[in-house]
Amino acid sequence: MTIWFSEFYSDTCKFDIAVKRHLHSEQTPFQRIDFFDSEEFGIFFTLDGYMMVTERDEFMYHDMIVHVPMAVNPDVKKVLVIGGGDGGTVRELTRYPGIEEIHMAEIDERVVRLCQQYLPVTAGKLDDPRVRLFFEDGVQFVKQRTDYYDLIIIDSTDPIGPGAGLFTVDFYRDCYKALNSKGILINQHESPFYEIDAVQMVKAHAKLKEVFEICMVYQFHMPTYASGHWLFGFSSKHFHPIKDHKREEWERLGLKTRYYNSDIHVGSFALPTYVREMLEQAAIEPEWK
Ligand code: SAM
Repeated sequence: MTIWFSEFYSDTCKFDIAVKRHLHSEQTPFQRIDFFDSEEFGIFFTLDGYMMVTERDEFMYHDMIVHVPMAVNPDVKKVLVIGGGDGGTVRELTRYPGIEEIHMAEIDERVVRLCQQYLPVTAGKLDDPRVRLFFEDGVQFVKQRTDYYDLIIIDSTDPIGPGAGLFTVDFYRDCYKALNSKGILINQHESPFYEIDAVQMVKAHAKLKEVFEICMVYQFHMPTYASGHWLFGFSSKHFHPIKDHKREEWERLGLKTRYYNSDIHVGSFALPTYVREMLEQAAIEPEWK
């Protein structure tokens, strides 16, 4: 008998992965964590039944969340990752010798410990000497910093459960305050296709536009997320992701990447018309704050 992991994308549509073994399951004070092994995607884990990371396609997500901002400001020295408990974002950041300090504020220590056990491919660099782990709510953590980080990456779950606070205007304002005058904010920006994700995409963009001078959205292909089409937000006080793209400087670093390259960098900001229109119309409504 085959066991299947299923994630519903709408009431009438779901995605299934055949599971070889259910490796672990636990309920923490924050969420339910499950680890599975599969033929097609290798080891993967879910939070409250939602897909987070698979061995097979994690490189697409982690390349795009890190190398896009790093190719705009290769002089980044101080970075804060909010969420990101699987460690994949930190792993990519540690490849930059110029980065001096990487703080990670992850609410649930169990995600980190289990990823260190089952997903060393993403968690393997969390012991880099430049990395400091803070097992705290990112919403509170960011309030304590002013004018400090060059880059903040919100590597969050969806805006439900513990992740809800990471999608508010107040939180984005606190991130703005924690960034220095050239600071960049990257956020997990949901997806335009299924209604439930598209609503959150529009809301996040409307809120970020209230706070940041430069506010853009870029796309990437993510086979295990709903529709396979996913977005990150690029918000900044100073840098424009295309006009300030340091193509040659980044290429001189000689980093080998499987998804990101300098052409993808530029192309990822060219959004389909229906997505562009949804984002252009995004406007804040009082009850969203
Ligand atoms: N790549 C994944 C995705 O988009 O589905 C997300 C990566 S990571 C596993 C998300 C992490 O955010 C989780 O480990 C979760 O515990 C953490 N998280 C959720 N809410 C948080 C909060 N308020 N503060 C800090 N971390 C939070």
